[in-house]
Amino acid sequence: MEKQQILEKIRQAGVIGAGGAGFPAHIKLSCSADVVIANGAECEPLLRTDRLMMEQYPKKIMLGLKAAMYVTGARKGVIVLKKKYEKAIAALQSALDLSTELMLMDSFYPSGDEQQMVYEVTGKVVPTGGLPLDVGAVVQNVATLIAIADALAGLPVTEKYVTVTGEVQNPAVYKAPVGTPLTALIAAAGGPEDMRGYSVVIGGPLMGRVTDDISQEVVEKTTGGIIVMPSEHTLIRQKTGSLENDIRLAKSVCCQCNYCTQLCPRNALGLQVEPHKIMRALALNANNFGEVNGIFSCCDCGICTHYACNFQLAPSRLMKRVKQELLKAGVKPEKKVAFDVADNVESIKVPTSRLTIRLGIDKYEKELELKKELIETGYVRLPLKMHIGAQSVPNIGTGDTVAKGQLIADVSQGEGANLHASLDGIATVTDKYIEIRK
Ligand code: SF4
Ligand code: SF4
Repeated sequence: MEKQQILEKIRQAGVIGAGGAGFPAHIKLSCSADVVIANGAECEPLLRTDRLMMEQYPKKIMLGLKAAMYVTGARKGVIVLKKKYEKAIAALQSALDLSTELMLMDSFYPSGDEQQMVYEVTGKVVPTGGLPLDVGAVVQNVATLIAIADALAGLPVTEKYVTVTGEVQNPAVYKAPVGTPLTALIAAAGGPEDMRGYSVVIGGPLMGRVTDDISQEVVEKTTGGIIVMPSEHTLIRQKTGSLENDIRLAKSVCCQCNYCTQLCPRNALGLQVEPHKIMRALALNANNFGEVNGIFSCCDCGICTHYACNFQLAPSRLMKRVKQELLKAGVKPEKKVAFDVADNVESIKVPTSRLTIRLGIDKYEKELELKKELIETGYVRLPLKMHIGAQSVPNIGTGDTVAKGQLIADVSQGEGANLHASLDGIATVTDKYIEIRK
């Protein structure tokens, strides 16, 4: 198959990054690269989706990786995962060839951060305002590579594996059609019948978001995990605190000890990310945020807030806020690496086991099983925008009968991703989503 034919099949299938912001895969792969990195590190505590998919689908991951290497011209493919994933390592080793290899990492957070991973594999730092491609690398999550392998077989993205854990009786990795209500996954996992008093984190404990209304949430192409927790849990309270309170505490409590900056993994890569200076500026009502460019390299990993700061302050949230305001004011990042990589870059890595204890979520750490039976509720609601780029435009109308796998929305202008029915049924089309009922 020609390179353009492969990219077209990936585009048609609606493949987007499964583990992050949802960048359309056919656009990311329309480039020349030296190395394709398959991200299987899944560094957030509690999540098991990628690990179990590597155990179950090593051949598909290799097929997707080889396709990505072929279209980008990369001579090397590296699958990065943790040393402790023994079953996944054995499964993937049997599928390797001369141009592909495994890179085994210790269990630290945030080992799955794209920039961290590129540095571990290539020894080069992605500049602020830049992309891995600036140092010759393309990174794809292992679940995205499986979707690419399916796309080559003509199968669009209609299902998703999701870790469901926390306060549920049967934590596991469940499979559901895209658009399935998250309440159905929680019920399948034996979660609380009455959700009052519980909150749900969508994503990992550190980078995930706490939903305001679980009844409105559905499985999206980027959903990797959901965690049910008591609303009173410190982590939930920390994640849902108000910005006004964050600023008030920055003024009254921050002692400028600088630990948040010292333990910032992006700062250690030489990207000059200095959260303590943001705290100081806010305390002084000043606009002197230090080296502004470095703020754009904050990846929102939360190490500063959830691990470094002894006073439970929230520098990561304030970094995010300042970054948004800078972007709104038209400030753009300058492509550069400010310093050499710090000598202590290895020693500041935070072991995932310690982080889990610090977050108070170690009781949820369990070996999980991958459930291959599909959770079906006879209803899905498919958002028209689950990806970076333009919203998909429906090509069907309310009352139309659709079949699973049918293209129901695409991108007529700009860049985006196709959307396919994940259920046979009757469609209802709105300006934000398409519902399908059996
Ligand atoms: S670690 Fe906490 S107290 Fe120390 S400088 Fe950072 S925000 Fe302030
Ligand atoms: S969230 Fe905090 S620790 Fe993480 S990159 Fe941003 S400033 Fe650094």
